[in-house]
Amino acid sequence: MLDIIASLESEVRSYVRKFPAVFRSAEGAWITDIEGQRYLDFFAGAGTLNYGHNNPLARQALLDYIAANGIQHSLDLATEAKALFLRDFHEIILQPRDLDYKIQMTGPTGTNAVEAAIKLARKVKQRSHVIAFTGAYHGNTLGALALTADRHYHHPFSGAAMNVTHLPYDGFLGDFETTKLLEKMLSHAGSGLPQPAAVIVETIQAQGGINVASPQWLRRVEAICRRYDLLLIVDDIQTGNGRTGDFFSFEQSGIRPDLVCLSKSLGGGMPLAMVLIDPKIDSWKPAEHTGTFRGNNLAFVAGRALLSYWRDRSLATSIAAHSRIIQDTLEQWKTQWNQPQWRLRGRGMLWGLDLVDGAFASEVVRRAFDAGLIIETSGIDGEVLKFLPPLTITHDDLQTGLARLGEALAASIRHPIAPWLTDPSLSLGATSALSHDA
Ligand code: PMP
Repeated sequence: MLDIIASLESEVRSYVRKFPAVFRSAEGAWITDIEGQRYLDFFAGAGTLNYGHNNPLARQALLDYIAANGIQHSLDLATEAKALFLRDFHEIILQPRDLDYKIQMTGPTGTNAVEAAIKLARKVKQRSHVIAFTGAYHGNTLGALALTADRHYHHPFSGAAMNVTHLPYDGFLGDFETTKLLEKMLSHAGSGLPQPAAVIVETIQAQGGINVASPQWLRRVEAICRRYDLLLIVDDIQTGNGRTGDFFSFEQSGIRPDLVCLSKSLGGGMPLAMVLIDPKIDSWKPAEHTGTFRGNNLAFVAGRALLSYWRDRSLATSIAAHSRIIQDTLEQWKTQWNQPQWRLRGRGMLWGLDLVDGAFASEVVRRAFDAGLIIETSGIDGEVLKFLPPLTITHDDLQTGLARLGEALAASIRHPIAPWLTDPSLSLGATSALSHDA
């Protein structure tokens, strides 16, 4: 079946080259291919399967809904599924956090939520410029692409990189406090920076290499936005939905973004994306940002069932416990194999082990896959192993996955050059390009 895909699907395909199996079914943290081989999934759809594959709560809600001929498609007509999702999202997520946002359903991809957020910010402030950060990933449609820093996605003729300035993220210049540069660029009339409408930021840059912004840095960015009359947009597409320990990744810092982009795990695997909007700036005219698949009812049904995880602290408590296990294990590997250059970054259940060398990291990924573990890399050269297991993973599955990865790392240290890196007939294609995705 891989031959069907290789012959019919565009060259743009990516993960299939890195994980060459044909998958059939999945449950929890496990995914199974057509040969019956089971893999532990430490990638979880790049943060889309925070509640695991086929989470029983979502699956049952979907089965009941479909069996009752529930509405599947409705543009943005009122449906019962939407109203109940909105009510529960408000009651379970927003109200207890004292957050007062209006909710915009966008087209069902993260990149469309980003498009909507910057479009609204530009409209509200009547300015076209937006500040993004080095290392940022915000999606691949043209507006969001302009905010995405990695040159890999840009084409000299795409004409996309307009009206955006990238300034250094926290840590980009070593110990230099990069908000000083942001402030100087805004305050100095000779900086060449047009007065922007907004700043868009990820609290942890997942695609960028698990770069973690400190809470102080985020608060400084927020203060600068207030001082210079800019809107603050948090892109919580990969880091939201509990990934970093709380429902929103910015909770720990105490900042109050004007706009928040959410997608990925919102619908538990069903496509759904939305923007949370401070009511004061909800100046959209009806249908000013549309999309045929905005507000996907199946995703409302699945997503609403999964909101029950946030009715108490039990998920957050187990994320904290699992976070400790991941961190301790990665630190232990670094010491055990005497690799002082490796760097460990992360929070909650989003961790990165920076192996410094992209070729080495891709070899580890390949060996892990052979041993039944799916894990991805991130960072500009794919040099960072990115740990994103489902938040609902069991203790035993987490330990099994870490043990498999530990063996893959040990084997790669012992035999650093694997045959597929030297033998062109075994080559997967442009391995460096494969480190860029989702
Ligand atoms: N923003 C961030 C932070 C993301 O991680 C992603 C996807 N990896 C996107 C935006 C784009 O989401 P999508 O792929 O659904 O368009």
